[in-house]
Amino acid sequence: MFAKRFAGLKPYVPGEQPTDRAYIKLNANENPYPPSPEVEKVLRDFDPALFQRYPDPDARELRSAIADMLGGGVSPEMIFAGNGSDEVLSFVFYAFFDSDSPLRFPEHTYSFYPVYAGYYDIPVIKTPLLSDFSIDTEALSEGPGTGVIFANPNAPTGIYLPLDKIRNLLDSVPRDRVVVVDEAYIDFGGETAVPLLAEYPNLAIVRTFSKSYCFAGARLGFVVANPPLIQALFTTKNSFNHFPVDALTQKIGIASCRDSRYYAEINGRIIKTRDSFSASLRKAGWDVLPSLANFVFARKAGLSGRGAYEAIKREGILVRYFDIPGITDFVRISIGLPADMEKLLAVMSSL
Ligand code: PMP
Repeated sequence: MFAKRFAGLKPYVPGEQPTDRAYIKLNANENPYPPSPEVEKVLRDFDPALFQRYPDPDARELRSAIADMLGGGVSPEMIFAGNGSDEVLSFVFYAFFDSDSPLRFPEHTYSFYPVYAGYYDIPVIKTPLLSDFSIDTEALSEGPGTGVIFANPNAPTGIYLPLDKIRNLLDSVPRDRVVVVDEAYIDFGGETAVPLLAEYPNLAIVRTFSKSYCFAGARLGFVVANPPLIQALFTTKNSFNHFPVDALTQKIGIASCRDSRYYAEINGRIIKTRDSFSASLRKAGWDVLPSLANFVFARKAGLSGRGAYEAIKREGILVRYFDIPGITDFVRISIGLPADMEKLLAVMSSL
């Protein structure tokens, strides 16, 4: 049989993306606003001659721009960039976690983690969420292990884990165990763990430009960590492909980092829309988990997630449900433009 080593793989299955009609798309946590005008300028002025040459293999200017955007003493040597955070996560798993000791992550979190663990043969221990659906940091730090990973805010719940809990977790695991915090949704009201990097050499933070920086279509994500971890990631990556992201994406990333004010403004609007939508949905009888992400996780007594999804889809709106025991009664709703959320609210209020 061909490709025997892939026979047992269970790849990530993204949510359904139907194309049979025009839908209001609230199912992939994308940003409903366009990227900064500075990005448009880059595209307008881009010199195709740049494509004749390989891109900067060290992405120096991009890594400097990311470090400047993050501030707080982060240097370019603390940044590792790649084609979306899914790609940088694959290097994180390969570089930091082993097959002889378990990796711990919450039972309900980003569904790529078990996929990568399977791919690299890393045993996993899934720790149940607490009764309010928040992450149980004590369970994550118990026993032997090769490392810990979780998203903050968590996906698909949207629940934010305060920094003091992350600090407690870091204090209770040995320093040779890498703790990865995936901050894909941190710009929607949470506080980043970046300041903790000064104290914890075993902390790695993963970020993406797909959500708060509006370019899921261009693919850019990065890790911020202390230089020894970043060097390990470069060594791993260079064994596959010497180049990080392409020349155009490097330029778009640089322009985005330099226009943080624009992104703060549009993400502020998303936060406002999320909070008012959540309040209205609760008034309409839905149980909505407290979210600091650009999506909310909601359920209504007597309705399955799939049933709600299908009823909402019939009205031309896509949200997401999960066929995963423990969360089958929820739908995950990405926050879109206010007018689209009004339409969704009308539909959900009638269910
Ligand atoms: N981490 C989390 C928690 C996510 O929800 C996602 C998006 N689905 C990603 C990482 C991957 O994002 P991207 O590859 O677009 O950077």
